[in-house]
Order: sequence, then C-alpha cells, then structure tokens
Amino acid sequence: MKKLLLAGLLVISTGLSSAQTIDVRDSSNYSSKALALQLHQKKWIHGSADCKSNADPALEVFRYDQSSYILRQNKCLSYEAPFIYVLFGDEKVLVLDTGATESELDFPLYETVRSLIAEQSEQDGKTEKELLVIHSHSHNDHYTGDSQFEGKPNVTLVKPNNEAVVQFFVFNEWPNGSANIELGGRTLTIIPTPGHQEEAITVYDPHTKWLLTGDTFYPGYIYVKDWDDYRKSIARLVSFSNTHDVSTVLGAHIEMTDKASEYYPIGTIYQPNEAPLALLPENLATLNSELMKLEKPKNVILNEFIVAPMNIFQKTISNIARWIIQ
Ligand SMILES: [Zn+2]
Repeated sequence: MKKLLLAGLLVISTGLSSAQTIDVRDSSNYSSKALALQLHQKKWIHGSADCKSNADPALEVFRYDQSSYILRQNKCLSYEAPFIYVLFGDEKVLVLDTGATESELDFPLYETVRSLIAEQSEQDGKTEKELLVIHSHSHNDHYTGDSQFEGKPNVTLVKPNNEAVVQFFVFNEWPNGSANIELGGRTLTIIPTPGHQEEAITVYDPHTKWLLTGDTFYPGYIYVKDWDDYRKSIARLVSFSNTHDVSTVLGAHIEMTDKASEYYPIGTIYQPNEAPLALLPENLATLNSELMKLEKPKNVILNEFIVAPMNIFQKTISNIARWIIQ
C-alpha cells in the first residue's frame, strides 16, 4: 500500500515529450543550452481551484540532468509551494531545503530523495552516499520537513539557525567571504546573502551553473527585512555572477503571473498562469542598479519580480518567529 502510494506521489516529469527528451548520459547529445531552455520553459504543478479533487503528486520531481533535480511541493499541501534542490556528487548528495510540511505520509520528501539515490546507485554503484541537508534560509516553509531526515543513517543536517550555519560553513566574518562544500567532483560555493532573512545563503553549482538564491531572489513578491544587508547581498551576487559562469538564477517560489509586474496574492493555492521559475543574471544586475539609485527603502517593481521593504509589524512577527527557532 505504501509502495503504491509512493508510486502515485512520485512522478518524475521531464517537461518534454519522449520524442524531445534529451539524453544527458550521451555526451554527444549534451547541450547545456537545450537544458537551460527546457528549464526556462518548464511548467510546474501549480495547485487547484478545488484541492479536494487535485490528483497531482505531493512533490513534483524534475530531472534536469542525471545528477541535478528540482522538486516542487504541491500548492494543495502548502500555498508556499517551495522548490527544493537535490544535487549529486560522487560522495555526497546535497538537499537544499526541506519544504513546508512535516508529515512523511503527506509529503514523502525523505523517501523521494532515497529513491533518487537508489536510482542513481544503479548507474554508479554507490549506495552509501552521505546526505547533506542545508537551508536557503530559516523560514519555516524551508525547514519543516527536517524531522524526516533527523536520526536517519548517513544524514548530516545543518540546523537552520545562525550558530549552526556559521559553524558548519566556517564563516568567520559573516556575511563576508564565501565557503565551499565538496560533494565529490562537484564543489559548491556558499555565499552569505542576508536581507530577506538573517541566515540567508545562496548556493552556486559549477556543474549546472545555477545560482540558487532561496527567497533572496525569485519570481515573486520578495519581502526584505534588512534593506541595507539586502542591497549588499544583491551587489555581492552581481559581482559573483560577473566573475563566474552563471546560466540561471533559481529561487524557492513562484508568485508572479505570466503578466509583467502582476503577482498572485499570498495564500494563493491555484496558479494556472504562473511565471517561469528561472531568472537570469541580467535580472539580478537590473535589481542591483535599481537598489543603488534608491536613497531609502522603497518598493522596486520590475516585470519579473517585486522587492518590498518589510514594515515594523512584519519585522516584529519575523523576530518572534526567529527567536523561537534560534
Ligand atoms: Zn519561502
């Protein structure tokens, strides 16, 4: 029964019909441009007007290439519908964020990651890879699934609080500098990007050339708690993008519609016309120049996203939530 349930929930989608499928295992077919295009055109599961009749999986699993996966939580489980990234190295598997739902039954994230590892091990013969679980930042729609990983074999979970983050990545002068994580033949760079939230980080993956920005930068209505920190973080990401090969900037939500500057309000469970997830380094550069022009915090409304300073009330709520988990 459980297996049946999991099979029903775990739908591997490629976003392409079989005739168009790109086989990344065949290096002669490998085209990073085609893969990037596929990602930019990808339509995700996006909830339902009536969630009772929603037949989509709890988690959509999108295989970008044989070692890089993007998972999206179903909006019918949580309107936040966060994205989760799973990146394979030769020795370790990185899980970036654990979603907004705790229950393994409703939201089988751990089992899904395990099944991806099992699938992968058929190719490379390695079954005992260490699972490294980290968080883009410490908001609960990105760490509520942590309990599924706690106490499991071969799992290292970095708690979503400042002390654990600084210690694990060895940031001696947070938010300055960067850190590296070695997954085995795949070295990720971790860049501190506070502003939306105090512990926010961005992950750069040289294999896919992805910049994984969490809630610091995504196609949505981005609340900023500390404006000055945020400006510096965006400037840091732009200078990183200028000196590294970044193909795509990927955040943790979609809140924009496919119309310029139009967003789905908070709590939306059905987004039939949502914007693509993928943004570009050029979008970051545009935001950076807009932020540079402003003398004080003010909404920045662009076609692909909106950046808004939090008000005192929102900051107070955020501080209370942070105090509870620290
Ligand atoms: Zn979020």
